This record gives sequence, structure tokens and C-alpha cells, in this order.
Amino acid sequence: MPNALRTDPISRDEWGSEHGRGDLDPGAEKRVVIHHSFRPALEADATPDEERAAVLGIERFHVESNGWAGIGYNWLVAPSGRIYEGRGWKFKGAHAGPVNGESIGVCLLIDGSQTDPSDRSIAAIRDLIADGVALGEISPDYVLSGHRDHMDRTCPGDKVYARLQAFRHDAGGPRPEVVARPEAHPAEDDTLRLDKIEIPRREHVDLIARQSHLSADAIGPGLRVAELLLRGVGAAAGARGRGVPTAVADALAAWRRGRSQDVDETSPLPPV
Ligand SMILES: [Zn+2]
Repeated sequence: MPNALRTDPISRDEWGSEHGRGDLDPGAEKRVVIHHSFRPALEADATPDEERAAVLGIERFHVESNGWAGIGYNWLVAPSGRIYEGRGWKFKGAHAGPVNGESIGVCLLIDGSQTDPSDRSIAAIRDLIADGVALGEISPDYVLSGHRDHMDRTCPGDKVYARLQAFRHDAGGPRPEVVARPEAHPAEDDTLRLDKIEIPRREHVDLIARQSHLSADAIGPGLRVAELLLRGVGAAAGARGRGVPTAVADALAAWRRGRSQDVDETSPLPPV
């Protein structure tokens, strides 16, 4: 059966995984959920070394910042079309909260809000899904969706989200229902919601970078940014001779509580 597979992913050993895969979850999954990495985002001509570094960085972030067993996605796809094994087919991913247990999570290593997915990466995902169906790891009548369809996120970015439609027409064999409707998702929210520790928009990252004297590239996504922001708001209030606003203090306390408790991978804390 496996002799006709279309893809030849780069294994965890090959990219140098340093952590585990979490829990076994065998069987055909009924969903494929697409993500973007946001940061790091690879250029179209990224080298294999740069790709490996990006995958390793995501693994470290998911373990060190989120407290997960290992990299959350089942698979990752570079603009080159090279596919990297995350948790693989048989382990439960940590990527889309309520549907982790019934899905395969695939992450494009780009900022999908700014960059169109390459044709090679789209073809790679199509082939990967076809292999998953052939191997019995994805249900033939699977549903394809974006992270934003399941959680309050902008992931996988508007440009990737729009391309999800292409799968319906490109895929040979079974035709997945595409739940993604580009016009149906809420407009980008301009506010950074401290209570939800949401991934901030690019301008927020840039603002935090200026205020914190760090380069934007040095600031990872997600919690690290939220933490910096919360600290920054508190420090700014202190510098003006006022106390830290109650709402900020509460949000910071809630963030610390949530972070220390939140190691079961079903949490709302995001991979991007
Ligand atoms: Zn995502």
C-alpha cells in the first residue's frame, strides 16, 4: 500500500526534533486544519537549513512557552514544498483546541496574512492529504478548514484562507467539503485583547518592538508578545507615576495563572 505514496516528508530525526509527540491518536481523522506559522515566516527561496531552523524554533516555542509535549502540528510545509514531520499521522496534535482529537493539523511556514502560499506548498499539502487518505489516516470525506474556523484566531491569514478554496477544485479523488468562506469570517480585529491573549497584529508587534528596544524578529508570536505587552503597559503606567491599571493587573495575573495550569494541550493558548 505505501509504495504509491506521493510525498517523502523530512522526518523528525532529519530535522533534529528535541522533544516528544504527545498522545497516540490512531485512526482516520475527519478534519484537516490549515495553519500559518506567522513568525517565523520563510521566504520563497529559503534553504533547507533555514527550514529546519524554523521548525526547530516552533518546536521550542510550543514546548517552552506553551508547555506542550512537543511541536503541536502534525505536519509542516515550507514554501519550497518540502514537508516536515511534526507529530505525524498517529499522534494527537495540539493546534486547534476543540478539534485536536479529530483532525490533522498542517502548518504553512509563512505569514499567511502577508504572503500568498506558493504553488509548490499547495501541491504538497494536496499530496500529503492524498497520502493520508491512502494510508487510512484521513477519512475520505474529510472536511478542510482553517484554524479560524474553530477558534478565535486570524490564522491561517487571509491569503492562505482564500487559497483553501483551491483544494476543492485541485484535489483528485474525494472532494472535501470546504467550510472556509473568505467573506464570512469576521473582519480583522484592531484591538489586542488582553483577556484572551490573542495573537497581535503586525503593527502591535512593531509597536512593542519599538517600546521594548527589541527587534521585531526577536519577538516570538503569542504569549511572549502578550507578556511583553502586559509588562510594557504596566511599566508605562508606573513611569507616569500611576499605579498599574486594575484591568492590566488582572489580565497579567490571569495570564500567569493560566500559563502555570495550562499544560494539557487542550487549552485556548494558541499555536499561532
Ligand atoms: Zn493556527
